[in-house]
Amino acid sequence: MPSATSPILRIAVIGTGPGGLSSAIALSQLPDVHIRVYEKASELKSLGAGISINHNGWKVLELLGIRDDIQGASTNPTVQRNAYTGEIVDPGVAHDPNDRYEARRVRRLVLQEALYARVPPGLIEFNKKLIGLEDLGKNGVRVVFEDGSETIADIVVGADGIRSVVRRHLAPDYPLNYAYQVGWRTLIPAERLRHIPDLPLDTTSWWYGKAKSVWLSPVDEPPKSRDIEFTCRVFNEPPIPGRTVSWGISVSNAEVFSRFEDCDPRLVEVFRQVPEGSWTEFAAYAGPAMENLMGWDKVVLVGDSSHPSAGGFGSGSAFAMEDSWTLARAIEYARTMVTTGSVSEVIGDALRVFNEVRRPYYKAM
Ligand SMILES: Cc1cc2nc3c(=O)[nH]c(=O)nc-3n(C[C@H](O)[C@H](O)[C@H](O)COP(=O)(O)OP(=O)(O)OC[C@H]3O[C@@H](n4cnc5c(N)ncnc54)[C@H](O)[C@@H]3O)c2cc1C
Repeated sequence: MPSATSPILRIAVIGTGPGGLSSAIALSQLPDVHIRVYEKASELKSLGAGISINHNGWKVLELLGIRDDIQGASTNPTVQRNAYTGEIVDPGVAHDPNDRYEARRVRRLVLQEALYARVPPGLIEFNKKLIGLEDLGKNGVRVVFEDGSETIADIVVGADGIRSVVRRHLAPDYPLNYAYQVGWRTLIPAERLRHIPDLPLDTTSWWYGKAKSVWLSPVDEPPKSRDIEFTCRVFNEPPIPGRTVSWGISVSNAEVFSRFEDCDPRLVEVFRQVPEGSWTEFAAYAGPAMENLMGWDKVVLVGDSSHPSAGGFGSGSAFAMEDSWTLARAIEYARTMVTTGSVSEVIGDALRVFNEVRRPYYKAM
């Protein structure tokens, strides 16, 4: 509830992935808040090709007010095939055009831009790489950036992804481990694939081989999808010594194809049609469930920073957006319910509510 006497909460959100942008939207709808969003990149970036949005994802997008800004392509039916023979192993579940919350594949950039468009103007600062946080007790948190600037916030929301700097401050010993999986992703113009016989481009197909898989899917509502998403993964992949970057590395066609040469001729032809220079590599990292998604009574983790899970659930963006929505509700609740106590006590209560709701969820996964 808005209150004439409520102090303004200064909230610093770190990152403009799905977690940071949805936090900016949900938190800016609260009364008496001053929000800034800090992003290390120079502009809105969206690594990867497509992203699955499932039931929970649509629900939270609806709450954020952008369900109808995103279309995507239904992933029903997803036809499961043998990667070597093309044999259909499972024809999948029929598409239900009346289901608003049906699983769909969406261009990542479409999701990012839809979220970005709902962030009130002027909140985001680019070229702001967080390098340090300092607990100032009742006075908040000092937030320090690489360019030498700093700010003070009452709440810091760490939406800075799998290699979170915010998490490093709360849990310096948290182990982030290579998950022995690598994925490569690209978008191919549909026109380049239309000559391949018996390769439907208006439905999703998932091809399984030994320790590898390939995913082909439209990313916009068929028949409008100009591009087909092509994602492949290998499992049991040994680590590359010295590698510290995990997402978005450019790799050559030959390097990716060398793992899939033995596949069905239709897939081999799809590999041949990938424009050189368009593959990006994603090595998967994961860590154990965190004991606490908050620290110092004023710093909180949302999205991948709070649950590095190798992307295997295909719902990381939805989890990040659910976190953001829940955080906004927890702050709203604490400010309404806790009528005595200092700002820092109210914030501590809000973050504990958030922690109690979200931590068991991630622990169960
Ligand atoms: C191969 C692969 C496939 C996936 N498929 C799906 C899928 O189908 N569906 C799905 O929902 N999810 C999927 N995911 C997971 C999904 O991409 C993530 O869960 C989601 O992007 C997490 O959002 P986030 O905002 O927490 O983090 P991110 O999207 O990683 O965003 C973090 C942001 O913080 C910024 N940042 C980082 N450090 C700093 C710093 N020090 N200072 C300032 N800014 C900083 C980054 O530049 C970035 O903009 C997949 C992931 C992978 C790797």
